[in-house]
Amino acid sequence: MKKKYETIISLGTQERYSNSLNKRIRLLNTFCLIWSHIILFFYSLEMIFGFVQEYINKNAITFHFFDYQAFFTYFLIFNSLIITLFLNKNHLFKWARILFICVFIISNTYAALIISPGNYLEYYLLLASPISLILFTKKTTSYFVLAISFSLFLTPYFFYVVYPTDYVDRLLVLEALCIFLVIHLLVNYFKESNIKSEKLLALERDKVLTDKMILEGQEAELRELNEFKSHFFVNLSHEIRTPLTLIQGYTNQLNFKESDTENNQKTAIIKEQCQQMQNIINSIMDLSKMDSNEFQLISSPLDVNSFLEKHFINFQSLFAKKNIEFTFNNKTLKTNILVDENLFSKAITNLLSNALKFTPKNGSVAINTSFNNEGLTINVIDTGIGINKDESKSIFKRFYQVKNDITKSQGSGIGLAFTKSIIDAHQFSIAVESSFGNGTCFTISIPKKFVNTNQPDIKPLQTIETNKTSLKKQTNTTYKNNKQKILIVDDHEQMRKYLKKILQHYEITEAENGKEALNILQNNNFDLILTDYMMPVMDGETLVKKLKLQKNKTPILVLTARTDHQGKLSMLRLGIDGYLQKPFMEEELLINIKNAISLYKNIVEFDKENSPETLKNLNEYADKFNSKITSYINQNLNSPLLTVDSISEYMKVSRSTLNRKVKSLLGQTVNQLIQEARLEKARNLRAEDPFASKKQIAEAVGVTNTTYLFEKLKERYGA
Ligand code: ADP
Repeated sequence: MKKKYETIISLGTQERYSNSLNKRIRLLNTFCLIWSHIILFFYSLEMIFGFVQEYINKNAITFHFFDYQAFFTYFLIFNSLIITLFLNKNHLFKWARILFICVFIISNTYAALIISPGNYLEYYLLLASPISLILFTKKTTSYFVLAISFSLFLTPYFFYVVYPTDYVDRLLVLEALCIFLVIHLLVNYFKESNIKSEKLLALERDKVLTDKMILEGQEAELRELNEFKSHFFVNLSHEIRTPLTLIQGYTNQLNFKESDTENNQKTAIIKEQCQQMQNIINSIMDLSKMDSNEFQLISSPLDVNSFLEKHFINFQSLFAKKNIEFTFNNKTLKTNILVDENLFSKAITNLLSNALKFTPKNGSVAINTSFNNEGLTINVIDTGIGINKDESKSIFKRFYQVKNDITKSQGSGIGLAFTKSIIDAHQFSIAVESSFGNGTCFTISIPKKFVNTNQPDIKPLQTIETNKTSLKKQTNTTYKNNKQKILIVDDHEQMRKYLKKILQHYEITEAENGKEALNILQNNNFDLILTDYMMPVMDGETLVKKLKLQKNKTPILVLTARTDHQGKLSMLRLGIDGYLQKPFMEEELLINIKNAISLYKNIVEFDKENSPETLKNLNEYADKFNSKITSYINQNLNSPLLTVDSISEYMKVSRSTLNRKVKSLLGQTVNQLIQEARLEKARNLRAEDPFASKKQIAEAVGVTNTTYLFEKLKERYGA
């Protein structure tokens, strides 16, 4: 109902009209609405009274009380009001107001003279000039209305005499004139002052608008400046990357005696700082990729428990060093979330690094997970220095740092900006609650649609507490000194020397290229082959291919400066045991070598322990497994639901077992296997039908994101 009235009141108003015109139109509509209601109300009352009175007096209803004259008067006024509204609706405001004022004057005069003479109804004419003041802008019009209404006011007294003559004297004329004038002037005064304040208001509004425009301009400038800053940092990062790689490489080659503690300490600091710089550069590059939408989320279901547990374990020793109690309270067992593991890991690492940085010694830090109505939440809570309320709004902004003793010497202010970009890209949300001096809690909320709790084969995890003694055991890696044999294949003499130094606990043989390595391998056995990718005469890829053809089972690690995915994938597809990029961490290389050798030893021992018959069976099993999984993937390629989970369900093995088996038998992860199959099929489809649309091809290989698929195709096959 209210809405209907509002619509009637706004009839005929338009945005392009001035405020005052719209206001006057609205007022006229309101007058019409009120007056028509008054008519309806009073006429109904009159009728009811007529009925009742007639019934009481005559005990019957004969309609003798019905006054035709009054009925037609009301009827005419009512219709005139409707016509006024209609004129307004059709933007004929000028005619609408003329009609209204005429109806007002005529109807009141008619009522005072004919319908109900002698009842002082002519006094209603006092309202005519205020109404005209409101509806008309021209002063002359309102004075004209004043003159007419005043003259008509006098008619019942002088021309159409309805009052006793002694009642009418000259004084009445003067008094009436005074009242008419006073009312007119009063309303005129309020109208003028209202116009003045409206003008002032308009000036204020203009000022506010100008200020707003200035602010917007400043904001745009700031944005530009920020973009420039980001570009500058990205370019700078590119420039710094190469010298940094060299510094890292040469620092790794520095080899001081164990007793030279001072130099060893200095080298350790250089390495640590280089790593920190590398991290900052990587974050800046990642962030710029996110800005330019170059990156693509590669989301797949991830067991949130083991994912967080992995991070928990990685950070344990760091927290223990600062004597910070570090706990993982997990209330979300058997839960998968849909994330890009690589990026999400960076977000969690950032939060944990901050907790470590901003929590003083003897404090505590916890990772908590829980469900709520909206989905799953991950909290990283610390009892650190906290952030005050004003600043907590800004910490997700790029390059923003709260000024304190810690940030003076550490950090760059992009960690949380990067974290937020990652979280936003996933359509999750991140919030911070903090109390200055008491601690901080970051909450990542993952909506229900990305959470799956029906994973039957995920092992439940319990609360894990830092165990300082077992930690020591974990971090002290020892290397056996029984001189296992390694063949290093690299054309770079300095590199071979450097590797030899790192691998001093092994018996090393050197080869300059693949061909020389093959010759050496004809008469010698090794526990591991460590080869470069790009070499003259015979490169690493050809060497590996030849070795695989010869069914040589020696584990192979590839060490290379190439960073493209294609090179890495084609090597992994050949079935190598690891792929490390230069510059690499010595520790990383040593661990990779150790793992590859022990795995190889297990296989050799297994071969020794088992009869040829068993081995044959096992090979058959591997072939069967291989063909089963390949045909399942090929059959379901067109479905976007083809995931590691669906395959593990089909193969009746757990996700982790499946990944392990596929990796050992096919040298790839399950996701890589699926992606490769999709890319290959897409390429074939394109070759078969060059007119097929990109969307059709994407649908046929179960990929919803067409752009992503074709980018990958380009990356993989170069066209
Ligand atoms: P930085 O490289 O300075 O750590 P971040 O973007 O990661 O940059 O963090 C931005 C700012 O937020 C930091 O400078 C720090 O003041 C504040 N901050 C982040 N995490 C915490 C925390 N856990 N406790 C207190 N302050 C924090």
